[in-house]
Formats: sequence, C-alpha cells, structure tokens
Amino acid sequence: MKNMDWSSLGFGYLKTDYNVRCYFRDGKWGELEISSSETINMHMAATCLHYGQEAFEGLKAFKGKDGKIRIFRLEENAKRLQSSCDGILMEKFPVEKFNEAVIKTIKLNERFVPPYESGASLYIRPLLVGTGPQIGVSPANEYLFIVFVMPVGPYFKEGFKTTPVCILREYDRAAPLGTGTYKVGGNYAASLVPGQKAHDMGYSAVLYLDAKEKKYIDECGPANFFGIKNNTYVTPESTSILPSITNKSLIQIAESMGMKVERRQVPVEELSTFEEAGMCGTAAVISPIERIDDLNEEKTYTFSKDGTPGKISEKLYRKLRAIQYGDEPDPFGWITVVE
Ligand SMILES: *Cc1c(COP(=O)(O)O)cnc(C)c1O
Repeated sequence: MKNMDWSSLGFGYLKTDYNVRCYFRDGKWGELEISSSETINMHMAATCLHYGQEAFEGLKAFKGKDGKIRIFRLEENAKRLQSSCDGILMEKFPVEKFNEAVIKTIKLNERFVPPYESGASLYIRPLLVGTGPQIGVSPANEYLFIVFVMPVGPYFKEGFKTTPVCILREYDRAAPLGTGTYKVGGNYAASLVPGQKAHDMGYSAVLYLDAKEKKYIDECGPANFFGIKNNTYVTPESTSILPSITNKSLIQIAESMGMKVERRQVPVEELSTFEEAGMCGTAAVISPIERIDDLNEEKTYTFSKDGTPGKISEKLYRKLRAIQYGDEPDPFGWITVVE
C-alpha cells in the first residue's frame, strides 16, 4: 500500500477493506460472505452480550523476501477455536471453512500486508459469537463467525529487549477447573483490573499463580511463561493455562536444537534457578523478562541486569521469526502459503 508508514504501526485496530462472515442459522453454517462494514447488527438479547458466549483467535501472516504471504499455523488456530467452542457450548466452526475464510480475508486485504523489510505483519482476528437471543442462561441457537485483519508493527521497535513483570497474589485470571484453557473473552475481563494495576506500576504484565494454592506458576497475562536452565526449556503445566501455539512451536524448536523440554508444575521459588525467563505468544513471539517482582512477598527474581535478553531466548526467537518470514525452511509444516 502506498503512503503507509509501516514502521510507525503499533498493535491497534485499523480499518481494512473487507471482512468475511458466516452465519449459523436453522442448524447449519451458511456460505462465507464478504462485507465492507465494520459493524455488526445484533439482537440485544444475544448470548455473547449477556453470558459471555464468545471466543476468538489471533494469528499472523508475513510477507517474505520472495513476495509470498505465509500464514503461521493456520490449522492449529482453527482447531483451538473448536476447542473453545466445546468449552462454552458454541456451535463449532469447521476447520476447512476456517482456513478458507482466513485465506479469503487476507487476499481481499492484500494491500495491507506489510512488506518484508518493514518487520511488520498482518494480524488476523477470527471471532465466533452467540447471536441468538436468550434470557435464561443457555447456549444460543444462532452464531456469527467473522474474520478481520489489520497490519501491526514490529513488536520490538528498539530491538529485542526485556521488560519487568509482577506477581499480584490478590488476583486470579482463571479458576483451576474453569475456562482458562479456552480463548474466551470472559478470561480477559477478569484480567483487566490486575493488568491495569501492573501497567500503572510500570510492569508489562502480571504473572499469575495457580488459583488454588498460589504455589505454582500459571501464565503471564495474555502469554505463556517459560524459563530456561541447564539447556532445558521449562514451561508450566496446569488446568487453567491457555495452550499457546507459540509455546508449542518453541518447544519443538528447542527440541530440534538439542535442548531438553519439561512441561510440569513450576513452583514460584524455582524462579530463582532460571537463567532466562520469557513470555510467549503471537504478538511478540517471545517477550523476554528482565525481572519478576513478587509484590506481596517482597521478593525479586532477576534474569537480566541491562535489558539484554538471554542467549537462548534470542536464538529461539530468531529461529521462529525466520520460519515465519520464510527466511529459513519450514521443517515442521507450520506455514500455509497464500497462493
Ligand atoms: C492467545 C493467548 C496466549 C498465546 O497464544 P498463542 O497461540 O501463542 O498466540 C496465551 N495466553 C492467553 C491467555 C491467550 O489468550
């Protein structure tokens, strides 16, 4: 796109040309529809508005040196949305249709895909909501699936750098047997107050502990947590963590680099033994952690003294980015090229 300052892009809503929609009515999903409207017309008693029947996804597409557009882990995101649907009793959107809708939306908005050199990418936001009216608490009989996209800037504008994180023991993000493993809006509503508090104090995110015992690490705001020690990638296992596709990918890369991987409960005190720590998710791939302040306990765990990320975090980050942009081969079959 001409006259677009790709380098000044942040992570925010930007209007693009088209979105793609699909309605579930009379017991079946309809055809994909193209829309140029930014708004949706919805019943005031829609279940997404009252009872949180809504789930979303977040993935990215990247333009390579060869001019090709690559979507990262399209199928995984389609499957995770299905899992979220199961979690809150919504009508599942077929994987094939999901893939088709995302590809269609990218093609329709091709002029918004940032060029390779910019370090920016196209963020893809699929959304599925209950639209049927319901006043008693029960699932809707109508649903809307919608995909929209927008260009987003490189996460690390001043280079790959660490940020501080805090533990706020007076808040929980998700209950141990609740909806933490699903990518649903309700979990985000619960994280707004602690997130705001942390930001006001200069932290980039809240590191949540398990809600039951407050003994183990859960996840880090909208990202999974990992620590590195003795050539081992350690990431928490819990019944309230959202299964990050970035984390899953980093695990495979770590193994392919000859590292050991441990997915298990991680006690808070173990933080003092990690050589490196980071958060991972689609937005940044890896956001390395400078230090973690456990505010109630007045304890600090430091991983970087001068903002420089650890060597292994940096290596994992570079490798994943290289696969996403097509700079390196895709041995794991993660990429869908938009033809
Ligand atoms: C989306 C999300 C993540 C990151 O998942 P990715 O698939 O890596 O983007 C982590 N935690 C929560 C709570 C999320 O919603």
